[in-house]
Amino acid sequence: TEKRLVLPSVTRDVVTRHGFQFKKSLGQNFLIDGNILDKIVEAAELDEGAGALEIGPGIGTLTQELCEAAQQVVAVEKDGRLLGVLKETLSEYGNIHIEHNDVLEADLPAIFEKWFHGLEVSVVANLPYYVTTPIVMKLLEEKLPLRNIVVMVQREVAERMAAKPGGKDYGTLSIAVQYWTEPEIVTRVPESAFMPAPNVESSVIKLKVRKEPAVQVKDDKLFFHLVKACFAQRRKTILNNLQANLQPKRDKETILAALETAGVNPTRRGETLSLEEYALLADALV
Ligand code: SAM
Repeated sequence: TEKRLVLPSVTRDVVTRHGFQFKKSLGQNFLIDGNILDKIVEAAELDEGAGALEIGPGIGTLTQELCEAAQQVVAVEKDGRLLGVLKETLSEYGNIHIEHNDVLEADLPAIFEKWFHGLEVSVVANLPYYVTTPIVMKLLEEKLPLRNIVVMVQREVAERMAAKPGGKDYGTLSIAVQYWTEPEIVTRVPESAFMPAPNVESSVIKLKVRKEPAVQVKDDKLFFHLVKACFAQRRKTILNNLQANLQPKRDKETILAALETAGVNPTRRGETLSLEEYALLADALV
């Protein structure tokens, strides 16, 4: 379209005309790089039968492209000052619903039922960085019918999501994300791609939602408790972490027996265990 909001001059014009003041506390850094925008939309693999859920539409920069590419778009925006702006910038689209809410408070299953009935849905967003992890965890844990999640996040967070065992980036976030999805970093994004420029680097990451979790466990709550306990103090051995942090508490013999059943040496550290090893260990503790 001619009037792509992503053009810096168009964004500046919209912001100025509405007297909009950016709020740092809401993570308001609007995208002004058309190449990055194209990469985000392409990664989502939308088509005329697709639904798209956006979190934080801002002035509608990404929303506009989603309306062009998908059948139905829902955008959840917390900042009421943007509602009038979005009404204007998205006026030519009939396939957009703006939900004024904090996404962490929103009833996503109800939104899906009402707007995406029967559609395959992608989450596509340039996330507010102060709430990235809770948002991604909410999307995964509510087991919504999602195909993929394509999001702009802080670069370190993208690297933690995609990290393999053995390094400092691998942790509870890596395991949760990889349990539900297959992560793939799409591209790195410089500070200059945003207005105003944030003081951190960003990456776009694509999470392909799995049909079944990556590992089968008897009790997924226990699996995640176990993972959390093993990373409670990164420099401690698994044995020490499990003795100190597993809830409900187990005695040393029980823990050693479970480690033996799972074939995991008690002196290893949490960051060296694969999802498969955590799954074996969780099942041995049931
Ligand atoms: N999508 C736009 C773009 O790419 O230019 C704006 C992205 S900006 C990084 C993040 C957006 O999320 C802002 O519009 C902000 O107001 C909104 N936001 C912040 N916290 C939110 C929350 N808890 N729920 C929903 N939206 C939120």
